[in-house]
Amino acid sequence: LKLHNLTRVYQTEDVETSALNNVNIEIAQGEFVAIMGPSGCGKSTLLNTIGMLDSPSSGDYIFYGENVAGYSEKQLSVIRKKSIGFIFQNFNLIDELTVAENIELALIYHNIPAAERKTKVEKVMDKVGIAHRAKHLPSQLSGGQQQRVAVARAVVGDQKMILADEPTGNLDSAHGQEVMEMLQALNDEGTTIVMVTHSPAHADYARRTINLFDGHVVAQSVRAAEQTA
Ligand code: ADP
Ligand code: ADP
Repeated sequence: LKLHNLTRVYQTEDVETSALNNVNIEIAQGEFVAIMGPSGCGKSTLLNTIGMLDSPSSGDYIFYGENVAGYSEKQLSVIRKKSIGFIFQNFNLIDELTVAENIELALIYHNIPAAERKTKVEKVMDKVGIAHRAKHLPSQLSGGQQQRVAVARAVVGDQKMILADEPTGNLDSAHGQEVMEMLQALNDEGTTIVMVTHSPAHADYARRTINLFDGHVVAQSVRAAEQTA
């Protein structure tokens, strides 16, 4: 994907905020990128723009060769459901649905027949180690387990890219590390990962870090091991 001279201005009454200001970023398929910066610098706006939950005020967003910057919400929704999985700090699971049902919901959007949905859900639950909790409700799980369900939901439809907004923000360090290892394993299989984090240790899982300040990209750094490769 490529963001070219991308700007996002929020207009509220008499206040105008440039949440993103002339941002230029390229992310290749299979990359693992961390986004860092102080509160209010535009990280969530950037992630939501990449995730097509928010549209730029100006500039281009090229996604697999298509400029989606001017697309309608309906067009964006089709691309989003097919290609992008989301993980949030607060897990965002549906309280009334079981683990298996929460994961399956992501496939109902894809019009996949019931039998195939069941197979895919079982496979992904095994993969993230939550199969023994298939019939439990989110409230009956620990935070670490809930985030595993969210990871399963994000990839069950073979999404090419995962966008993670502080995925370890509500987890203790052991569970946070577990989630990071899961993301790393998915990245090793070719899934693109773009993650907002405040944790330098977790940013180290990424091959590249993009630093934002006041809506600008102020620095990009590549992990040393990769530079010499
Ligand atoms: P971060 O995720 O780095 O904390 P955000 O992307 O949430 O930053 O916000 C960037 C800037 O845009 C902030 O100044 C914030 O107040 C402003 N902002 C974010 N969302 C809105 C909105 N819906 N309406 C008006 N201003 C917003
Ligand atoms: P619908 O068009 O059925 O309302 P969406 O387009 O909102 O569905 O959702 C498509 C995908 O994007 C889903 O995987 C959903 O989890 C995610 N998504 C969209 N908006 C949000 C949001 N505000 N918070 C969490 N996830 C969202």
